[in-house]
Amino acid sequence: MARSLKVAVVGAGVSGLVTARELQREGQQVVVYEKSNQIGGTWVYSPQVESDPLSLDPKREIVHSSLYYSLETNLPRRLMGFSDYPFTIRKNGELRTFPGHQEVLQFLNNFVQDFGLLDFIRFNTEVVRVEQQNDQWVVESRRSTCDELSSSEEIFEAVVVCNGHYTIPKVADLPGIKSWPGKQIHSHNYRVPEPFRDQVVIVIGAGPSAMDIGQEITKVAKEVHLSSRSPEIKVSKLEMFNNLWQHSKIEYCYENGLVAFQDGTSVAADIILHCTGYKYDFYFLRTNDTVTIDENRVGPLYKHVFPPVLAPGLSFVGLPYRAVTFFMIEVQAKWVASVLSGKVVLPPKEEMLHDVEQHYRLLEENRIPKHHTHRLPLDPVIKVPDYSWVFVISTRFTTMQVFEYLMIISIWQ
Ligand code: FAD
Repeated sequence: MARSLKVAVVGAGVSGLVTARELQREGQQVVVYEKSNQIGGTWVYSPQVESDPLSLDPKREIVHSSLYYSLETNLPRRLMGFSDYPFTIRKNGELRTFPGHQEVLQFLNNFVQDFGLLDFIRFNTEVVRVEQQNDQWVVESRRSTCDELSSSEEIFEAVVVCNGHYTIPKVADLPGIKSWPGKQIHSHNYRVPEPFRDQVVIVIGAGPSAMDIGQEITKVAKEVHLSSRSPEIKVSKLEMFNNLWQHSKIEYCYENGLVAFQDGTSVAADIILHCTGYKYDFYFLRTNDTVTIDENRVGPLYKHVFPPVLAPGLSFVGLPYRAVTFFMIEVQAKWVASVLSGKVVLPPKEEMLHDVEQHYRLLEENRIPKHHTHRLPLDPVIKVPDYSWVFVISTRFTTMQVFEYLMIISIWQ
């Protein structure tokens, strides 16, 4: 017979909501803690930015979401639904292939309503401590209302961590930056292009945010220079734009405002925009170093979800990236729920630890740096093939068809 446990879920973003649904389907008693006053996590756009544009000041008020105003999804809508709940929101009567963030949030609100999840969520309640006590877990939380702040502790048989990982910026360490006179900002604090009007901007990074924001800024900035650490990149002006160049890595930032690139060129820049990613952070988790974060590797985690020594009482949903995220989260949530109900049994602790070690070894053998441990398509364990052919066939197929094909391949493997 299936076990019925009391389970805490930290966060009501996509991961927390889907996990709550799967746990509830397995007959668990679920409490979802959400520090803000609404569901959606990343998908709740806020015009508010942090007081420190690089988000380094430990005393700053943290803004959770890193969305910019114009953001449209980088995956087609059909890949951002769940196996039994497709993404079918309409904008002005039309279905957009790449919806805006408002539509994603509306989709998630519909999901919550249709699965009756609201009753499980405690809003304005931040988890400040999760700690194992004998075979159970203490969850300490702080609830804030307009006129009151209250603390409480509650005991659970399991905790699923779903707090997201796009909030605490990673900032590039640039030689000479301390005496460089310009402004710096991380993409976490980018919302609209207007502050970049008539400026010479260097955008560091090669991910989706760097590409998106870099292009958006070209509409108002004097010059935009993309800088990435890829060794193959030579300086070049991008043909479709009047004011966009790509460069190699930054070599040095000088006191007179010049920024030199390793490709031998230099630019008198006004602003450096860091689109350099984010760090995992579980400030509320006390595990006596059973789970650690080392160069953005959270571990040891069996298949990115269960820490072998603390499983199945503690688990993480939503950690991997560069994936078909919503689908991956759903699969992880179903796994956690089936393990907790006893339908699925995890391998012995030693076997899980061995699997993690093997994963690390494969990453090393393939020269994949530690900080990419949770980047799925590079995972050699899954043996993802070289996708360069995608760019060849993408000239003949729509992006959506290519993505769908990729997803089918990744599931099939
Ligand atoms: P989040 O959405 O971050 O939710 C975490 C929740 O936990 C939040 O509500 C937060 O308030 C809450 N929380 C945190 N700490 C606590 C605490 N201590 N106590 C209580 N509550 C807490 N994915 C796609 O599939 N397609 C895209 O196009 C796409 N674009 C993206 C663009 C940007 C700029 C970014 C940053 C991400 C994008 N993503 C995209 C990835 C996106 O983050 C995931 O789709 C998804 O939102 C992750 O959900 P999550 O629940 O894991 O985390």
